Amino acid sequence: MPTRHVSHVPAALDAVIIGAGVVGAACAYYAGRAGLAVAVVDRGPVAGGTTGAGEGNLLVSDKEPGPELDLALLSTRLWRELAETLPPEAEYEPKGGLVVASDET
Ligand SMILES: Cc1cc2nc3c(=O)[nH]c(=O)nc-3n(C[C@H](O)[C@H](O)[C@H](O)COP(=O)(O)OP(=O)(O)OC[C@H]3O[C@@H](n4cnc5c(N)ncnc54)[C@H](O)[C@@H]3O)c2cc1C
Repeated sequence: MPTRHVSHVPAALDAVIIGAGVVGAACAYYAGRAGLAVAVVDRGPVAGGTTGAGEGNLLVSDKEPGPELDLALLSTRLWRELAETLPPEAEYEPKGGLVVASDET
């Protein structure tokens, strides 16, 4: 039987987010910041899915021009802003990336 952790749940919620990975956590964080009452539900621990296995790189250099790159650039800006409000344990470390072109084109 898995461990169940239940923190205080308000009587009325605006949103229930299923999944306590980075995507669910981000949705909950920004929804909460916008004034919504939010609960996050997961069948396991926080970051117990793919998020816990991630390498933690925030890359834009591997994105094709278009919507994916636009979102990655927005995300990079949001991470930078977020890092200013988070405690040092969050370990945000800007470090850039390098792509080597194999030909002139
Ligand atoms: C080896 C590896 C390295 C990676 N490195 C990077 C990297 O450097 N940079 C990067 O940007 N991305 C990286 N990624 C990708 C990144 O980790 C994922 O895109 C990201 O973690 C997905 O987050 P998520 O919140 O969507 O999913 P998850 O973290 O998987 O969260 C989903 C959650 O939903 C829960 N859930 C699912 N179904 C239910 C249900 N029916 N009821 C209740 N709960 C449920 C799961 O338990 C889980 O906790 C990497 C991935 C891997 C595997």
